[in-house]
Amino acid sequence: MGETEERTCSKCGDTAEAASGGLPQGWSVGTERHRVEYQCTTCVRANIRSIEGKLPEEYWEL
Ligand SMILES: [Zn+2]
Repeated sequence: MGETEERTCSKCGDTAEAASGGLPQGWSVGTERHRVEYQCTTCVRANIRSIEGKLPEEYWEL
């Protein structure tokens, strides 16, 4: 308990602390080209327009 890791947004380079093995509040994680990529809340929201309708609406209610 209490361990944190720094996550870096793959889109804008913003950073945030997260619980070890977890994600900062509102962040998204995915894999692209065999890499794990994180997106900050800002970038997640910016990308909603392009991907909305592909995921259940409740997914975004974090
Ligand atoms: Zn970002």
